[in-house]
Amino acid sequence: MFSEVTRQDFDKVMLPCYNPLPMIPVRGEGSRVWDQQDKEYIDFAGGIAVSCLGHCHPVMVKALTEQANKLWHLSNVMTNEPALRLAKKLTELSFADKIFFANSGAEANEAALKLARRYAVDNYGSDKTQIIAFNQGFHGRTFFTVTVGGQAAYSDGFGPKPGNIEHIPYNDIEAFKAAISDKTCAVMMEPLQGEGGIVPPTPEFAQTVRELCDKHNALLVFDEVQTGNGRTGDFYAYQGLGVTPDILSTAKSLGGGFPIGAILTTDKVAKHLKVGTHGSTYGGNPLACAVAEAVVNHISTPEVLDGVKLREQLFRDHLAQINAKYPIFKEVRGKGLLIGAELVDEWQGRARDVLVAAGDEGLMLLVAGANVVRFAPSLVISTQEIEQGFARLECAVAKLYNA
Ligand SMILES: *Cc1c(COP(=O)(O)O)cnc(C)c1O
Repeated sequence: MFSEVTRQDFDKVMLPCYNPLPMIPVRGEGSRVWDQQDKEYIDFAGGIAVSCLGHCHPVMVKALTEQANKLWHLSNVMTNEPALRLAKKLTELSFADKIFFANSGAEANEAALKLARRYAVDNYGSDKTQIIAFNQGFHGRTFFTVTVGGQAAYSDGFGPKPGNIEHIPYNDIEAFKAAISDKTCAVMMEPLQGEGGIVPPTPEFAQTVRELCDKHNALLVFDEVQTGNGRTGDFYAYQGLGVTPDILSTAKSLGGGFPIGAILTTDKVAKHLKVGTHGSTYGGNPLACAVAEAVVNHISTPEVLDGVKLREQLFRDHLAQINAKYPIFKEVRGKGLLIGAELVDEWQGRARDVLVAAGDEGLMLLVAGANVVRFAPSLVISTQEIEQGFARLECAVAKLYNA
């Protein structure tokens, strides 16, 4: 197939902040993708937990094309029907009374953090500003969110950082007790760490965080950018954890591939984001909200959510089968279709090798750090696609193992 642009062009015309794989995918259908050379891939990556209905799902294509023929954009000088319908639906599916729309996960978290600071300062005065967050946590790449994130390497080297942010180890109850006080305005955590290696919270830890936030009048912010929208088998991960946040951020799977993010919160907290305190040109754009509405309506059905649990078991069974032949994984973690397989000690640092070898066999995977192979496929991936994908993974692992 003739192609006018190649991977080499990336190095010529794009900023070097990414190092993309050699192939250039050009089309997709369900959990299959084809590259410029028409090579087929099974997609276990889902565009990093975004393509929750796979590629070009008819429900999304219909919503997108119908809205594309009606109205694309207005600005927040006016409201619009898709945004209002989506906001209503998200309040029905969650603890929340109020929604704010953004365009990405980082922007949703930026709004969450600004809202938490404003709420604390309005209610308790200007020195209640401490934010507690967790080592290895990830919240996006704006300067505030990357500083709240738990990897200093991502926020170092950009000059003075936003202040009064403290990081402690995830799941460390004693460290948390020592860090929180009446000066704490918010705790930001993922209810299952994604980028940090697919690390679930212990129930006691999640419970303690909630109780101490209440005791110290600090808001609990759950970053559900990766875990939200059915990914864990509950519509939001907090529902499976039994701990309800004060603010929840969502993005990634919310649009199924169309950029959109949102925060969800209660009336009590929401009222502090008064007219003029925050905003976004595109946030709540009709085109994005129409697609997200279709995605949410489809994902939030019992059939899809129960299907996630069935598929999780298939993934775990297949991983166990591969591991019985080629013992490279020491632990399989996660929930629903957000699964991390941690490599054994002799394979430390080789997660990207597995990803590259899988790519050669026609399988798209993810990593979460250097030692964890991550799976975040479509929530409606077919049994056949799962079986073919694991056959390819087994070939890739066999080649690495026998090399
Ligand atoms: C991906 C991710 C983000 C950032 O989302 P963007 O859309 O890339 O800005 C924030 N938090 C978590 C938990 C994520 O996984």
